[in-house]
Amino acid sequence: MTDELRVAVVGAGPAGMYIADAMIYQDRVPARVDVFERLPTPFGLLRYGVAPDHLKMKSLSRTLQRTLDDERVRFFGNVTVGKDVSVEELRQGYHAVVYAFGAASDRRLDVPNEDLHCSASATEFVGWYSGHPDVSPTAFDLSDVRSAVVVGVGNVAIDVARILSKGVDVLRTTDIPRAVLEALASSAVTDVHVLGRRGPVQAKFTAKELRELGELEGVDVVVDPAQLALTAADEADLEREPALARNLEIMGHWAERGLTGAARRLHLHFWSRPIALKGEHERVTAVTVEPTAVVEGHVVGAGEPYDLPAQLVLRSVGYRGTALAGVPLHDTTYTVPHEDGRVHRGGEVSSGEYVAGWIGRGPVGVLGTNRSDAEGVAERMLEDAPGLLERALGEPVDRLLAARGVEVVDCASWKAIDDAEAALGAQLGRARSKLASWDELLRAARR
Ligand code: NAP
Repeated sequence: MTDELRVAVVGAGPAGMYIADAMIYQDRVPARVDVFERLPTPFGLLRYGVAPDHLKMKSLSRTLQRTLDDERVRFFGNVTVGKDVSVEELRQGYHAVVYAFGAASDRRLDVPNEDLHCSASATEFVGWYSGHPDVSPTAFDLSDVRSAVVVGVGNVAIDVARILSKGVDVLRTTDIPRAVLEALASSAVTDVHVLGRRGPVQAKFTAKELRELGELEGVDVVVDPAQLALTAADEADLEREPALARNLEIMGHWAERGLTGAARRLHLHFWSRPIALKGEHERVTAVTVEPTAVVEGHVVGAGEPYDLPAQLVLRSVGYRGTALAGVPLHDTTYTVPHEDGRVHRGGEVSSGEYVAGWIGRGPVGVLGTNRSDAEGVAERMLEDAPGLLERALGEPVDRLLAARGVEVVDCASWKAIDDAEAALGAQLGRARSKLASWDELLRAARR
């Protein structure tokens, strides 16, 4: 028996890193944390989700890096749990395992022709401009896209619409991969249409993110003032959540301002849902949009459908959790079942298994939400620690991985990637330029 709690965290995104942070910066039980990550790089959606022009948020990686630099934390990048090492082996090798592997997939629209060429998920588009190694740097060609439709009115839709509308010169100061910058530079986009199936009061985006759209140079935000009229249900929503009025105020100002003749237009359409995509030669050409109303809480068709021309359609209707072999997943919420962070198997708490972040609570909340979430889960682990420490541990997982010849990207190798990206940036006159393929990342890691 040891008095040091050995913890494995699956997923090096903000949720996983905040768990590591909470476990080492407490003085009740000595703890060591190994963080396992499928990608060769840490920080999950902070690196591959937060938009590249949100520099302040991006700088959070310096805080997470400090946790990774602590000698009580080890990084096991390029290790796929479920393939290179099983969940059962992790459970044997550690007193506690925390699942923080996020929600890797996306929801679908389930409308005809959704899979036409140039119809994609926002997840893929975000992965593209973020340099995610699973998405080719040439995945999107914007040179013949004049009109783009983004479906959904959450913060991801706002990010995607902003990157599509923003002038490329402003993005040159970011870490966007070179090939992506070139594609954005040759973009022919003049109009971006964002579709919300309910009203402006029910939109999921937050005021801070929305306001940014109005500050984009060379872009007119177009809102139909008639769509801002309030229904009785809206009045009730506003009473319950007065902060929603801020979005309305911002949009009201844009509706009054009207067009200034800017080269690009960003149209916000509410009470509008896609009911089909149309295409020619397998490529999308339009979205058939149906006007809607909300009746007893349900979105229903309420008018004559019309076609909105589009050479690119991005569905931004939320993320979805995916299964990891050996970990239970709820079949409708796509989250790991748990009670207060303690994983449930067969309706009972499973000793030594915990869950944090989107795979536990669903794909909602901003980055900071993960911090309080992780602190709660760490607290559960510390409460359980006396019982967990009684168990003898099995084969150390680093030994298993070495015996299997798995090429682990450790903290030093990740630093080599980090340095290579800074060096590439310096060559290009930028602070950093991301390496955007598996091959480049692993080559840099080996240096
Ligand atoms: P989200 O906030 O859940 O928004 C999803 C949007 O898709 C909603 O407008 C929803 O409308 C719509 N939708 C869902 N199914 C649809 C369908 N079949 N047809 C048409 N519309 C549909 O999801 P998200 O934008 O992916 O964001 C995920 C989380 O990350 C959120 O908590 C978000 O705040 C956070 N995030 C934060 C930032 C930031 O802070 N800057 C940036 C990005 C993401 P209904 O409401 O009608 O269902």
